[in-house]
Amino acid sequence: MSDAFEVQGLSVSRLAEEFGTPLYVYDGAEITGRFRDLRARLHPALEVFYSLKANPNISVCALLHRSGARAEVSSLTELVTARRAGVAPHDIIFLGPGKSAAELAACLDADIHAIVCENLDELALIDRAARERGVTARVMLRVNPAFSVKGSGLTMGGKPRQFGMDEEQLLAAGPGLAARYDAVRLMGVQVYLGTRILGEDIVVDNTRRILDLAERLARRIGFPLQTVDVGGGLGIAYFDNEKDLDVAELTTRLNPVVEAFRTRHPDTRMLMELGRFLVAASGTYVTRVRYTKTSMGENFAVTDGGTNHHMAAVGIGSYVKRNFPMAALERLDEQPTDPWNITGPLCTPNDVIGKKVPMPPLRAGDLIGVQRSGAYGPTASPVHFLSHGYPAEVLVLDGTAHLIRERDDSEAMLARQRLYDAGPGAH
Ligand SMILES: *Cc1c(COP(=O)(O)O)cnc(C)c1O
Repeated sequence: MSDAFEVQGLSVSRLAEEFGTPLYVYDGAEITGRFRDLRARLHPALEVFYSLKANPNISVCALLHRSGARAEVSSLTELVTARRAGVAPHDIIFLGPGKSAAELAACLDADIHAIVCENLDELALIDRAARERGVTARVMLRVNPAFSVKGSGLTMGGKPRQFGMDEEQLLAAGPGLAARYDAVRLMGVQVYLGTRILGEDIVVDNTRRILDLAERLARRIGFPLQTVDVGGGLGIAYFDNEKDLDVAELTTRLNPVVEAFRTRHPDTRMLMELGRFLVAASGTYVTRVRYTKTSMGENFAVTDGGTNHHMAAVGIGSYVKRNFPMAALERLDEQPTDPWNITGPLCTPNDVIGKKVPMPPLRAGDLIGVQRSGAYGPTASPVHFLSHGYPAEVLVLDGTAHLIRERDDSEAMLARQRLYDAGPGAH
């Protein structure tokens, strides 16, 4: 019996030795398993698009693509990533509130399935870019619905937002909207209602309301509903009081809603965007304890990686600090005896990965793991703070560890900086 955390038979001790720490380890089987389980249960008409924002590593994207996921991208680099990972243009949508002219041009040049448009200025810009190229742009409208749904970690609808166009404004624009832009073909509707949703009923409710809204809008504005994107925002449990979505329960209730829409619109492409749900559970952030100390009666373990790589561990959308699931990875058989503050190398008191986490008596050299960390990890963290740079990332596939991102070193961190040369004698 081993008392160390393993990924597909590879011990964390070996991985840490081979790749160093701090390190992100992703279990590829967890990613493909989650995707396949969902895919097997979900109505076949509802396509799953992977939101690269959650974890934009090209190998993670490629793994999901090879399992059958499409791609939802929100920047030029994410578009390039999805293409290089092998995703076909007709399986890519581009979404985001502040797209540049260059990004819109790249979407048209790549001939992706649709640009998800977020405001009228953008629609005019898409129209102009398409006209210049002599093409017609396929455009979905991102809608900020009049309704909101409770129960997500971040509510989107029913409030003033920079995302999408207000439902009322679109209804008021009516058929005029489609007619105004010659080089634009309105063909779809997208709504995203929030993230970290853990209630099956909320997902089903959202989907029903979004499909209904898409139908009404397309009819009112007067375009064929070629694609409808029902958002997603499916969560995973991080904290003690949370419970994972029951995929069987979810799909049993969701599929009839999809089927009913499908019957009315047999030719409409239906899709769902998922980021966190697909990748979060696969990831472990591994750090090594450098020093232990006590301060005013509390235990501190100072590790080699902190919030610079894992900002979410500070606490997501919450005023009360709640800890991610964490463990002393080589001492899993030992009972936690004391509360430990797990902190990183940054010179700020906020660099706390775990507060009063029950752990065995920690010592320098121990490996600490923050679990369920495959989404919104380093990519959503201030990795450049104190010039520490990006940690290494490893993806384990079929029992083999693949380095999918090299750790930044000083040369990498300085590569794009310039030391000015003001000439002799000047400052
Ligand atoms: C962030 C985002 C996603 C992915 O969200 P998850 O909660 O990670 O699934 C999908 N769609 C839009 C519009 C987003 O902004």
